[in-house]
Amino acid sequence: MSSVPLPILFIMAVFFTFWLILRKFHRLEQKKRALPDLAGYLDANKQAEARCSACDCTEFKDEGLSHGKDARRIISCARCNTLLYRFDPPEQPG
Ligand SMILES: [Zn+2]
Repeated sequence: MSSVPLPILFIMAVFFTFWLILRKFHRLEQKKRALPDLAGYLDANKQAEARCSACDCTEFKDEGLSHGKDARRIISCARCNTLLYRFDPPEQPG
């Protein structure tokens, strides 16, 4: 048997689980930030009008990059949830 007390093992397991969740969340966040803008997306997929690159759906949904009201939007497919491209608002003067 291990000499590490059971409560310590339990706490370590909890921390490890949190770390896994955080890492997954962070990976998704990086994936969103690495998305091309609309022009880059159209160019990469040789499209004139944006369609989902995975299922050809033309219905999209958008969400804020870091929170719901974030002006930087992430556009994803409404049908299969594939992340497609990002939309950055023009810089606001002032
Ligand atoms: Zn799709």
